[in-house]
Amino acid sequence: MRILGKIIVVGASLAGLRAVQTLRREGFDGELTLVGAEAHVPYNRPPLSKSVLRGDEDVTLPGAEELGEEWLRGRRAVRLDAANRTVVLDDGTELGYDGLVIASGARPRRLDGVRTLRTIEDALALRAELDSGHEHVLVIGGGFIGGEVASTARQLGRKVTLVDSGPHPMHAGLGAEAARWLAGHHERNGVELVTGTRVTDVTDGRVRLADGRVLSADLVVGGMGVTPNTEWLEGSGLAVDDGVVCEPTLYAAGSADVVAAGDVARWPHRLYDDALIRVEHWSNANEQSAVAARNLLAGPQQAQPFADVPNFATHVHGARIQTAGLPHLADEARVVAGSPEEDRFAVAFARDGVLVGAVAVNAPKDLIRLKRSVAAREAL
Ligand SMILES: Cc1cc2nc3c(=O)[nH]c(=O)nc-3n(C[C@H](O)[C@H](O)[C@H](O)COP(=O)(O)OP(=O)(O)OC[C@H]3O[C@@H](n4cnc5c(N)ncnc54)[C@H](O)[C@@H]3O)c2cc1C
Repeated sequence: MRILGKIIVVGASLAGLRAVQTLRREGFDGELTLVGAEAHVPYNRPPLSKSVLRGDEDVTLPGAEELGEEWLRGRRAVRLDAANRTVVLDDGTELGYDGLVIASGARPRRLDGVRTLRTIEDALALRAELDSGHEHVLVIGGGFIGGEVASTARQLGRKVTLVDSGPHPMHAGLGAEAARWLAGHHERNGVELVTGTRVTDVTDGRVRLADGRVLSADLVVGGMGVTPNTEWLEGSGLAVDDGVVCEPTLYAAGSADVVAAGDVARWPHRLYDDALIRVEHWSNANEQSAVAARNLLAGPQQAQPFADVPNFATHVHGARIQTAGLPHLADEARVVAGSPEEDRFAVAFARDGVLVGAVAVNAPKDLIRLKRSVAAREAL
């Protein structure tokens, strides 16, 4: 381990918290500062689209209570000077560092008149709207957040319309077979699907679609993807391109003292011919931040590449949908267990005959097996 006197972690959510915990666990006893724009103790986002909307506000992240004095809450980093190793905060404070962890995450894409969901405030406001008697909820985007909001709103007895620009919701992430099943699953659970068209604007609950149709709803919620929080890195000297561009070890490209982790990091993945990927899932932020922190302490020469198989789970109308790897890279897909008709199946995805991803619906054991096969680059 090299000797670093001061480390700053920017972003006090899952990746930032895990980085701080890892640094301390690995024996770093220098000055450690966690800078977080939100005023809260780091909390867990997955419940925001599920239990929080149903009234259970437990979003605890274990370990968050141990942060103590090291943590500057409600403060935003507005500038980085990587050459001079300085972070500037929104109140003008300049903080010097020997090592920096960038964990500033991502924020939702927005459209006027549309609610989005990223923070506890967003979730509580959405819940208040749902509780205030809004009968018809229109969800824009059938990705995992949109799908979960649609599912929760149905559970609460609301009428739900889901608009998605693909042929079926989650077509890119799940592949044709599982996405077709998901569309049927939404419809069997009372969701009205509008696919193959985009929302162009929303005014007073009137939702205009690119194909000329106009829909109306009492409440419009968007799950239209996210943008990495990198504005504060403009002019820093770091490479930023849809996230902080990193090396396989999560060091910012060309840097010996800055690492990045979580939704904001884009790095070349060994399993995928070093293609640059950015992963917006919980387990990635959780595991990647620990590796980034260890690598920062070890120094660039001793750092290990991060090559975990990305994985993700979502719950929609009682079904558990999991993915491993990157199904969208595949040129071939095959159902390898169960069948869509029995609402329990797994699909394996391959490129040039080599497994690159898997999707499982109500089949967690198959997902575990397939994830191992993806990691080992087995043939389909
Ligand atoms: C509603 C919802 C449901 C989800 N459900 C699932 C799920 O079921 N499964 C799954 O795998 N994933 C899910 N996710 C995704 C998962 O929560 C994210 O991948 C994870 O939160 C990423 O953690 P992070 O720490 O990298 O970034 P974030 O959680 O985005 O945190 C970044 C933090 O940095 C702060 N910040 C930003 N800029 C600055 C700055 N300049 N200075 C200081 N602080 C800054 C932000 O305010 C934020 O607190 C869900 C996300 C949401 C929003």
